[in-house]
Amino acid sequence: MNLTEKQRTRLRKQLIARKTEIEEQLLQNEHYGLQESMRDSLGELSFYDNHPADHGSEWFERGKDIALNENTEHNLEEVEIALASMETGVYGICLECNQPIPYARLEAIPWTAYCIKHSPSQDIPLGRPIEEEFLTPPFGRTSLDERDDQTQFDGEDAWQIVESWGNSDSPAMAEDPEALDYNNLYIESDENVGYVEALESFIGTDIYGQSTTIFRNNEYHKYMASNEGDHGLEIDHPSMPKDD
Ligand SMILES: [Zn+2]
Repeated sequence: MNLTEKQRTRLRKQLIARKTEIEEQLLQNEHYGLQESMRDSLGELSFYDNHPADHGSEWFERGKDIALNENTEHNLEEVEIALASMETGVYGICLECNQPIPYARLEAIPWTAYCIKHSPSQDIPLGRPIEEEFLTPPFGRTSLDERDDQTQFDGEDAWQIVESWGNSDSPAMAEDPEALDYNNLYIESDENVGYVEALESFIGTDIYGQSTTIFRNNEYHKYMASNEGDHGLEIDHPSMPKDD
């Protein structure tokens, strides 16, 4: 035992004072008002016909009082255990390592049952909820864009389609801040959807591979504007200049 008789007496006095203090506190505030029913304190005959949100603040306060009461009662229990351990002679010995707890620590927290090293309150959990693995990065679960062996429609593609209908980003926040068109603000807006080569999107045939038709969509106009296409094929189209 590392404590002198004088030190023990002092600590015992401190513990008894703390015990009295807590007991008086609980008596005065009637266990944080928990002994009074909410029905009485709010003047309601019953909560049965009320939506819980109608008494949101009261429920919050009640929850807080329950937590405070539990905390205070827990502290009272610690003090009582410490006083009892003085009788059995195990006071001031760390429950974890069985080493004497330094007097300075006992003076500060006379009811502690652990040395500083083994104080349970030091174990701050650093783990994150497992759900977060699914939330970050966005589409972490379903985006297969970075994988060369995966080309199917994935979560990132789904987002691209939804995003192409607009979001609250300004052009400055777009993937390409130089974008000239609101249709080009979203991620990979230049990616072809539903086809690989641009001309697949505007050339069609019947089911026998005959009757080639051109669908003059945006891809088509871009294709022609880039001078890739044969303008001669467009001879009948009113938008094409006649070469005479
Ligand atoms: Zn210890």
